[in-house]
Amino acid sequence: MDCIFCRIAKEDSRADIVFFDKDVIVFTDINPKAPVHLLVVPKEHIQSIAHLEASHADIVAKLIYTAKSVAEKMGLSGYQLVFNVGRDGGQVVDHLHLHLLGGWKESDD
Ligand code: 5GP
Ligand code: ZN
Repeated sequence: MDCIFCRIAKEDSRADIVFFDKDVIVFTDINPKAPVHLLVVPKEHIQSIAHLEASHADIVAKLIYTAKSVAEKMGLSGYQLVFNVGRDGGQVVDHLHLHLLGGWKESDD
């Protein structure tokens, strides 16, 4: 299986990484749809929200908490957190990821 987000998580492919720890990596989206557009990604390959099992509860909570922490560190005054789920939900990359979108207010100042 060749997965771009697994490659980024293993640092085999380049990305603008803003945070990582043993479970999670956060990097800039290559095609940003907001002034700040980050992807919060588990290092473990999980296909999508639709593929979650009960054992994944901790990592999903950690994705959301990591997004909150990064948004706070970046001084974002507000933001959107989005999971696209499946092709019909707009998901293109089949490795679970949380979009963190913001920076509109900051860029208008
Ligand atoms: P999806 O539509 O699957 O929810 O979102 C996938 C996101 O990944 C898109 O916003 C797309 O721009 C981003 N993306 C796809 N390939 C790469 C890549 O190689 N590097 C980075 N940084 N982002 C990517
Ligand atoms: Zn993967």
